[in-house]
Amino acid sequence: MSGASLPWLAALRQRLGTRHVLTSPAELLSYESDALTLFRCKPAAVVLPANAEEVAFTMALLHEHGVVCTPRGAGTGLSGGALVPEGGVILSTTRMQAIVEIDGEERRAYVEPGVVNAKLSSAVAHLGLRYAPDPASQSVCTLGGNVAENAGGPMCFLHGTTSQHVLAADVVLADGTRQRWGHLCADGHGPDLRGLLCGSEGSLAVVVGLWLRLMPVPERVTTMLAAFPSVTAACAAVSGIVAAGLRPVALEVMDQRAIEAVENSVYRSGLPREAGAVLLVECEGHEQQVVQESAAVEAMLRAKNPLQLERGDDPARRIALWKGRKGAGGALGRLAPDSYVMDGVVPRSQLAAIMEFVEEVEEEVGLPVANLFHAGDGNIHPHFAYDGRDPEQAAKVERAGAQILEKCLELGGSLSGEHGIGLEKQHLLDRQFSADTLRVMHQVGQWLDPHDCLNPRKGLPLGRGCAEAFHRHGGGAV
Ligand SMILES: Cc1cc2nc3c(=O)[nH]c(=O)nc-3n(C[C@H](O)[C@H](O)[C@H](O)COP(=O)(O)OP(=O)(O)OC[C@H]3O[C@@H](n4cnc5c(N)ncnc54)[C@H](O)[C@@H]3O)c2cc1C
Repeated sequence: MSGASLPWLAALRQRLGTRHVLTSPAELLSYESDALTLFRCKPAAVVLPANAEEVAFTMALLHEHGVVCTPRGAGTGLSGGALVPEGGVILSTTRMQAIVEIDGEERRAYVEPGVVNAKLSSAVAHLGLRYAPDPASQSVCTLGGNVAENAGGPMCFLHGTTSQHVLAADVVLADGTRQRWGHLCADGHGPDLRGLLCGSEGSLAVVVGLWLRLMPVPERVTTMLAAFPSVTAACAAVSGIVAAGLRPVALEVMDQRAIEAVENSVYRSGLPREAGAVLLVECEGHEQQVVQESAAVEAMLRAKNPLQLERGDDPARRIALWKGRKGAGGALGRLAPDSYVMDGVVPRSQLAAIMEFVEEVEEEVGLPVANLFHAGDGNIHPHFAYDGRDPEQAAKVERAGAQILEKCLELGGSLSGEHGIGLEKQHLLDRQFSADTLRVMHQVGQWLDPHDCLNPRKGLPLGRGCAEAFHRHGGGAV
């Protein structure tokens, strides 16, 4: 059946307005993948509701017609989470970008799900407040997408991931029912549905509103850049800092290939090109606390014989260093037409071991790999540069990714630090979780969405029904 003749489309057009229901091939093109281009599938339609009522109307209608639906924010996800199987609909939150209420006294804000992460901090800066979770993609990714992926970021080493900053969420279930999960005054009664939502990858409910926790802008911030001959040496410094009980806000490592890419790009920030790796450490808090903590970190770094150590409180230099770190993913786009950014976790003490393994895999695959990662959390992000037009290269990087994730598990780690399971890691879920645990996860999904119509195959184990195929690089079904 052609998209134009689908019976539910007319009802959507009537309620949302024709221009908010996209069906032309050109309009649908940019929705066929997220930032993980290994997987593609064109939706039957993309709907752009203006508010929670329109989301509830859309979900109820699609549910009635047995049509699968996937919520989508900015599409920066890196595990294929925002793709919908053939014949399905993408519900985009692009028009839901209001920061509805800012409560400075209670340090919280109510936002719509399509608000871009960085915009919230800008909007509350005049009150001396900020929203702490800071994914490197924060200038484009949405707060709804952040909750669905339980996004992290450099500053999450100290402040915790998104889950720790969500007070309550207004959601729409697969059948269009509206609910609030969580409470503004944490009461701790009953199962934590708010917690269940964080990291559920859009497969339990559509987020239509969020009460988020705000934090004070720190009195003082000190940033340090230590250059080391190798990634292993930088990782050893990270372990030393954490083992000593020091609590910087961020501990980020970039390898030589990432440094080169940044320095050759608009994100250039004066990183030492000759270094094998750089470690970026930031301390923040009250004046006296930062002075003491940063002095202890500096001493620890010096003891690890860095090639270079830069320490500064200059805000301009700090901004430049973070511009380099946060722009590094984009800068690496220079290396090849496509990149596969992986996400896995190991215990911090195993960082050197996993980095050695990544090097071995790189040699085996014969394609360049760059590493930039949240070292404090043991959260690695090897970036494979490849040409997706060559199915052989795409298959190679996908296999290599699975090998690295399996190694993470072998070292006592986990499949995801922040990018989620999506389509990418579904086939590995049973390596991390027992059959019993997977069954419980499946039952939770079935309880909220018995027909598997809300973003099936993502995050949670595969259920019955609505399980159409997605296509990999070579066109084969998943
Ligand atoms: C260059 C780059 C750097 C990145 N750096 C980081 C990083 O430092 N830390 C990090 O955690 N991630 C990072 N990411 C990954 C990505 O930005 C995050 O996963 C982000 O949270 C996705 O937000 P989004 O709005 O793009 O969501 P999308 O990609 O649109 O969707 C992601 C998932 O969320 C679901 N979803 C979206 N909106 C809703 C909603 N309203 N209700 C329910 N489900 C919803 C989707 O169905 C999908 O499963 C990076 C990505 C890129 C490209």
